[in-house]
Amino acid sequence: MPLTEEQILEALTRVSFPGFSRNVVELGLVRHIGIDGDAIRLDLDLVQVPPPVAERVQLEVQRTLGTLDGVGKVEFGPGTAAGSPPSLRVVGSAPPRPSAAASGGLDSQLIPHVRHTIAVASGKGGVGKSTVAVNLAVALARNGARTGLLDADIYGPSIPLMTGLKHERPLMDAQTQQLLPFERFGVRVMSLGFLMDPEEAVIWRGPMVMKAIEQLLRDVAWGELDILIVDMPPGTGDAQLTLSQRVRLSGAVIVTTPQDVALADAIKGVAMFRKVGVPVLGIVENMSYFNCPHCNERSEIFGHGGGKAQAERLGVPFLGEIPLDASIRSSGDTGEPVAVSADENAVTTAFLRLARGLIEATRLEEGSESPEADKGGLFERFGKIWGGAD
Ligand code: ADP
Repeated sequence: MPLTEEQILEALTRVSFPGFSRNVVELGLVRHIGIDGDAIRLDLDLVQVPPPVAERVQLEVQRTLGTLDGVGKVEFGPGTAAGSPPSLRVVGSAPPRPSAAASGGLDSQLIPHVRHTIAVASGKGGVGKSTVAVNLAVALARNGARTGLLDADIYGPSIPLMTGLKHERPLMDAQTQQLLPFERFGVRVMSLGFLMDPEEAVIWRGPMVMKAIEQLLRDVAWGELDILIVDMPPGTGDAQLTLSQRVRLSGAVIVTTPQDVALADAIKGVAMFRKVGVPVLGIVENMSYFNCPHCNERSEIFGHGGGKAQAERLGVPFLGEIPLDASIRSSGDTGEPVAVSADENAVTTAFLRLARGLIEATRLEEGSESPEADKGGLFERFGKIWGGAD
């Protein structure tokens, strides 16, 4: 019996991609299968993949196909080599579940039980986007919202460190084949950082990033959530744009610092979300001012009020300011976000205010959510918890 393309494809479904539960067929990496007697010639789309990982995949493919009856030689075509341009047609590599990836369109089936997905974004790195994302998630959970946190920051997934999960790896539910999110401080946490080596992460681009993020949405047992906070990659490039188009976002929060350059980047962020029709729920100014722990004096190191003024100019809500505070950095490094603390101080209050502002912005944006329709729901619960307190 001559070998068939179907047999080869079927065998390739047993080759999982390093660090992923998905196989190379599901990930759409098989571009062409050529069969000539007992010789197989494969083109795998490994262009975006770092060479050591590509080699591992090729070895595993060779080993797996070698177990098939009638297979002699397995060769890889030119498109396979990492770093070379793909030039081959795609054959028979459809993922098992319908995906809108090919069309680049919105996929409403990715996270059906999540009520609001909110992106935390920044025009550039280092402004405290992840810090805000994690503390915001904790503050939301502390106030009764069923909250998830997805770390989609491919260029430096820092949520595992900030939530004390740095050396952890998620387990998979054998029945549903879904990854189980960690539960920390009442928040369900999943990160790209759990699935890939940091060295690999920085090299991954475009389509691979999207596939990884899609997997973290679709193949994670998020369960019922009121809010899923997505810590986005910084910047306003293609990856961010695609992500905003693919995931049904309720809105975006832009984190900035008072310096002019960060503000200019924030403007780009607002423009990007507007371009894809995602409402900007507001701007947060991080490292806004410094409260001296010794003299209690407030210093406005980088100037102050820029975020608020910019928000007004852009016609988006200003969600608040977070001080520059050593406890924010140290708690991030020790894996216990500062918003967990029961202390009522400038920092914890700032994050709790931010959570409240976000809930309010989401409610306003939702529009259709009348107080009646929300009976016992998220907004009512928040209203109760917060009362009139400030
Ligand atoms: P981004 O996600 O924008 O790259 P991070 O959240 O990783 O930025 O923050 C970068 C660094 O700055 C981290 O070490 C973090 O602890 C620190 N940091 C962020 N916000 C504050 C703040 N308000 N006060 C003190 N340190 C902060």
